[in-house]
Amino acid sequence: MDVLDLLWQLQKHDDNLSSLEKKLVALEQGEKIKQIANRMKKTEFRLTDLKFRMEQTEKDLSRNNFTLKDLDYKLNKTEKELYEGNISDIRQLGYLDKEKDLLRQQIDNKEMEILSQMEEMENLKKEFVEIEIDFKELKIEYGTLKKECKELIENLKKEIIKETLEKEKIVSQINEEVSRKYNQLKKIKGNAIVEIIDNKCSGCNVLLPTIIIDRLKFQNEIVYCENCGRILYYQK
Ligand SMILES: [Zn+2]
Repeated sequence: MDVLDLLWQLQKHDDNLSSLEKKLVALEQGEKIKQIANRMKKTEFRLTDLKFRMEQTEKDLSRNNFTLKDLDYKLNKTEKELYEGNISDIRQLGYLDKEKDLLRQQIDNKEMEILSQMEEMENLKKEFVEIEIDFKELKIEYGTLKKECKELIENLKKEIIKETLEKEKIVSQINEEVSRKYNQLKKIKGNAIVEIIDNKCSGCNVLLPTIIIDRLKFQNEIVYCENCGRILYYQK
């Protein structure tokens, strides 16, 4: 292989390597995995919060149920006193009657409160179940991604090693001065060696003199584009 073909191949390996390395960095930073981990954290927080609210509501409910029983008991007692006929004092009867109405009112209020708490509890439970399903799905997605990512990273590392070895093999066949010049150009221009397409340098698009193209066609020597300084490559 002549030096120009070697340089052409070298550049292909260099470009492959840099795209592989970019992919590897992206994977190692794992943006998507981070996003899912974040969502999991938020979902977990919401679940904890819901659990806390459910416990609070449960406590309120049992306290209210207890109060309701107590009120029922008092109402029963008051009604007995009122209707059993043992009390004949009008004032006392009036007092008991008022007491009975008051208790009934309190019982109504308590019952309303309990109903709305039960409704709230139902809603909380429903929300909890829904979020729990989301959380399980996120967990599965996270696990799958993590596994896929690990495999991809391993494959990329293998490819990088392969490309590097092939690159080294090529570099060992190119003299140091050319190699240095190539690296310098690659660093500055992005591509060091460019094809001649339609008699033009494909690096800068300038039309090349026929004499230069002929030199490349018939001789194996390094020719630089006079306009952009890149090494010219003629695909034979
Ligand atoms: Zn050029």
